[in-house]
Amino acid sequence: MSEAEATPKTGKRVLLANPRGYCAGVDRAVQTVEEALKLYGAPIYVRKQIVHNKHVVQTLEARGAIFVEENEEVPEGATVIFSAHGVAPEVHEQARARSLKAIDATCPLVTKVHHEARRFAADDYDILLIGHEGHEEVIGTAGEAPAHIQLVDGPDDVENVTVRDPEKVVWLSQTTLSVDETLETVARLKKRLPLLQSPPSDDICYATSNRQHVVKEIAAECDVVIVVGSRNSSNSVRLVEVALDAGARAGHLVDFAHEIEDAWLTGADTVGVTSGASVPDELVQQVLAHLAERGFADVQEITTADERLTFSLPQELKRDMKAAAAAARG
Ligand code: SF4
Repeated sequence: MSEAEATPKTGKRVLLANPRGYCAGVDRAVQTVEEALKLYGAPIYVRKQIVHNKHVVQTLEARGAIFVEENEEVPEGATVIFSAHGVAPEVHEQARARSLKAIDATCPLVTKVHHEARRFAADDYDILLIGHEGHEEVIGTAGEAPAHIQLVDGPDDVENVTVRDPEKVVWLSQTTLSVDETLETVARLKKRLPLLQSPPSDDICYATSNRQHVVKEIAAECDVVIVVGSRNSSNSVRLVEVALDAGARAGHLVDFAHEIEDAWLTGADTVGVTSGASVPDELVQQVLAHLAERGFADVQEITTADERLTFSLPQELKRDMKAAAAAARG
């Protein structure tokens, strides 16, 4: 039987976004924990969720990772991994004070924003950090130069901004924001501060922009868009918002396929599917299988970018892996 004959024609289809799921920073962070578990053995402590995804965290926990909120919960001298979202310098200092062996899995694209913050603070700029209050990445970046950084949490927060010198102000941003909303925030900031400088390169990362771009392409054709991702994943939550703004009739965020309610599919012909940057593709495949069982077996993948970026593992881990390999060779 040909594939066309095997798939019953129901008029129902799935538009599957590509790129979706794991980005280079998440891949590296998850691999860091996996390699550390192999190299040093369990338990390995991880400060905060390594990436904002329930399934990833549960899987690593089952292998021996222990997730903690703060360094104080890590026994002195143990190994601790810092999450992909980045940490403030004081977190490194605390780790040193407790003689922890720290491995920093901060995404290099977040580290880049930290560098920018340090550089502009050293030049005595006021830095307007566009981001979501309380998000770990924002806390980490702001911790680089607390006296120089103020948070701007979206366009409506612009009116609260005060600066010392309107000629010496720069904006930076969290990496996982809505591209369009950030442009709006910047436009409003520039109305108030015409000499506001922009970051040397985009802070919203390639993975966030690419995932939003493809969702925009498919949204208008979709009766419902299902985004696989966790509620605390900023870029996943943004994907639902972007889908709705771009014309999807409905949008839902789910961690797992079984959370999809049949009522969402009632009367739908086209379902869009994508996933946040911290989501392994097996969860998307489970969603596709779930949809296929409900008549949505025709899957058309819509590709708008080819992602090839990869990041090497943290130096401190690579060094130990090399040493272990040399010891094993004798
Ligand atoms: S979403 Fe972007 S900034 Fe965050 S880990 Fe992935 S590549 Fe890095």
